[in-house]
Amino acid sequence: MDCQACGACCAVFRVSFYWAEADDAPGGTVPVDLTRPVGPLHRCMAGTEAKPVRCVALAGEVGQQVGCGIYEQRSSTCRSVMPGDAQCLKARAAWGLTPE
Ligand code: SF4
Ligand code: SF4
Repeated sequence: MDCQACGACCAVFRVSFYWAEADDAPGGTVPVDLTRPVGPLHRCMAGTEAKPVRCVALAGEVGQQVGCGIYEQRSSTCRSVMPGDAQCLKARAAWGLTPE
């Protein structure tokens, strides 16, 4: 499964994580300007807080060719989705993409 020809998981779910993963906290990496608050302790990627969902850091066309603009700085949530896992397959199905 080629993530660079997909991007579905960046355009289906609310991509939330502990607030301190943003770069206004010591050791945080995710650019805080690209996040939105989710309650007192969490944030999400801007663009994933409401439908239609699409992370602001995602470049390109879902299902064609995509890239993450903050790949090295992305959250643990982004890193946790693995090609072929349940979240991946759910996201691909939502975009009408085949499991492979
Ligand atoms: S949905 Fe799966 S294949 Fe598509 S970008 Fe996410 S992990 Fe990669
Ligand atoms: S930060 Fe990158 S990997 Fe994470 S949801 Fe946005 S585009 Fe996808």
